[in-house]
Amino acid sequence: MKHKSGFVNIIGSPNVGKSTLMNKLVGEKLSIITSKKQTTRHRIQGIVNSDNYQIIFSDTPGIIKPGYKLHENMMSFVTQAISDADILIFMTDIYETPSKHAELIERLSKFEIPVFVLVNKIDQSENEKLIEIIDLWHKALPKAEILPLSALHNMSVDFIMPRLIELLPESPAYFSKEDLSDRSMRFFVSEIIREKILLIYKKEVPYSCEVVVQEYKEEEKIIRIRTNIMVSRDSQKAIIIGHKGEKAKQLGIDARKDIEAFVGKQIYLELFVKVDKDWRNKEEKLKKYGY
Ligand code: GDP
Ligand code: MG
Repeated sequence: MKHKSGFVNIIGSPNVGKSTLMNKLVGEKLSIITSKKQTTRHRIQGIVNSDNYQIIFSDTPGIIKPGYKLHENMMSFVTQAISDADILIFMTDIYETPSKHAELIERLSKFEIPVFVLVNKIDQSENEKLIEIIDLWHKALPKAEILPLSALHNMSVDFIMPRLIELLPESPAYFSKEDLSDRSMRFFVSEIIREKILLIYKKEVPYSCEVVVQEYKEEEKIIRIRTNIMVSRDSQKAIIIGHKGEKAKQLGIDARKDIEAFVGKQIYLELFVKVDKDWRNKEEKLKKYGY
């Protein structure tokens, strides 16, 4: 078997059981960054390794973050969760129906990547009612795989991993199987900055830019990090920088705080905004070669 690797993103309303499932899936196989508790806040939940595969599970804190415009925010985080996922898991429970997620369903139905709908908490459902709900989900998302389960009581949870492995793309591992390498630290740093961009700027701006960590240099007392924020237009650059540089300054402060907490060390963070109208194409290419 060729090596497989990919990102599995889990989305869904609060309290449907995402964390419970994640704990079961990554369980003992968990090769997580235990000394870095903040990881959870930055979406990566756990990495499951074997000789032949590596699955990176993440969830979507935007959905559960209180105090933001919930709906708008959920959709933008979902867009992000989807844009870098190889497989998407949408988790729901027997108390929710598709009608609650009309807009999301519309988006999901256009996706090319495999979508799972996990209908959780079947331990609390009557058979007939369950069949009805499952039927509604089949109608709402005909291409998705619908799986009723109970994460808490381990009902049907065992079906998930083998199916995920089957569907994973062939790819070398994204992260060192032993520990965190420089390369993965760069990834986490760019994720943190990306999260801050999502929180600070509105609407399309976050999706029109990409964070590229140019330098990650660990010195005795400090880590020097230089990053480019790539945008495709001058107008976007102006938005990122903001009036008298206020916005970029805010971004730098917020990002530095979280990165320092994450790496447990003082950092020196440089952020540059670069305009390159062709970056998206180039990026696709780079990704293909596993930059
Ligand atoms: P999240 O907000 O989506 O991450 O949901 P959690 O994993 O935190 O679960 C929310 C609540 O639902 C917790 O009290 C869980 O114990 C409970 N829960 C999760 N899975 C199940 C299940 O299969 N059956 C039942 N009855 N409760 C569950
Ligand atoms: Mg949770």
